[in-house]
Amino acid sequence: MSQILKTLDPFKKINTEFPFASPIKDWKKSGGKVIGFFGGDVPEEILSAAGVLPIWLRGPCSEVPLDAANAYLHMYSCSHMRSIFEIALKGDYSYLDGVMSTPYCDGTRRLYDVWERYMPAPAMLFLHTPHKNTSEAEAFHYQNIEEFVESLERVFQKKITDEALREAIRTYNKTRKLFNRLFDLRKKNNPPVLGSEVIEIYNASAMMPRKDFNILLENLINEAKAADRMPNNCPRLMINGTALHNPEYVKGIEDLGSIVVADSLLNGAMSFTDLISEDENTDPLLAITRYYLNKFPAPRMVPSEARFNRILEMAEQFHVDGMITGVVRYCAPHIYDEIRLSKRFEARGIPSLRLDLEYGMAATGQIKTRVQAFVEMIEERKRKG
Ligand code: SF4
Repeated sequence: MSQILKTLDPFKKINTEFPFASPIKDWKKSGGKVIGFFGGDVPEEILSAAGVLPIWLRGPCSEVPLDAANAYLHMYSCSHMRSIFEIALKGDYSYLDGVMSTPYCDGTRRLYDVWERYMPAPAMLFLHTPHKNTSEAEAFHYQNIEEFVESLERVFQKKITDEALREAIRTYNKTRKLFNRLFDLRKKNNPPVLGSEVIEIYNASAMMPRKDFNILLENLINEAKAADRMPNNCPRLMINGTALHNPEYVKGIEDLGSIVVADSLLNGAMSFTDLISEDENTDPLLAITRYYLNKFPAPRMVPSEARFNRILEMAEQFHVDGMITGVVRYCAPHIYDEIRLSKRFEARGIPSLRLDLEYGMAATGQIKTRVQAFVEMIEERKRKG
């Protein structure tokens, strides 16, 4: 790449301020409330409609000792959740007015229980979320969401109106529409944005008000569209796995002569591809319910075929030459998912590589050696046509 994207700087700046970034500080200074959540499928639109700033909690962008968290969460709780609790135990998430989760996986369930038991935030909120998208599941989830709205209204003493919900849906949809424009640029032969840069953008999206984020993302897309960055004919990779936050992990992969053009990450394409219905005649809570049950499915949703098909479809759209799945140790949803997904990729002639990781790891040492061999194998295949 011959040129850097200047509009990436504000995202990077916010990320260096983790975990209490300046947009969150400004929000708190103006009297706003902040709820930190973990796991996926949290309807941020509802929190936003309640006037609350939702923050997607994460651990540091590097592998760190987890001594404090290990005293509360067993070693076979994933290091992703233990990293979050390590930060919380140090007091660096003490600015939160509430903590929220869903039954996304065993890791999120255990962290929620421990947080509530040993260090409860002023508000502890939990939203039960079904694993299927049947009509019975929709009715059940609609009821859960209604009850969740009532509990938020009680906690924050604020009525959540349909108008506020529609406004929040529009704002969050705008983020998704912008990301789809960015993803379209990544489909090109010479993508003007690196995969590691996209991780920086994902990270910042989790730590600031969405309206402000949308402005930054629009600026970046405008610059990327006009950027004269080097054409890139190197192997095009897709990365798969749970939420991924370390840009150095992706940079390490790209520094070996590849470019990451697509992902099916929980904090990436899975959250930013599909839109919530903005139909004025549809109850906004029903639109939110349907979205979270029918969007790009996470491995927690069954049956898995819909998820596999979405990922394979993406691989085709983004002209992917190879797929790398990073599996965080003890992450049951992705351990089961990866074997079945890689078989489907191999059947289409797309090689795949599984990397067993700890949360926050960079692509160094043995990981680097394995990725290098993988990239060289793809190059060789491309040469042979
Ligand atoms: S890494 Fe896996 S087990 Fe841990 S929170 Fe993410 S999905 Fe759940």
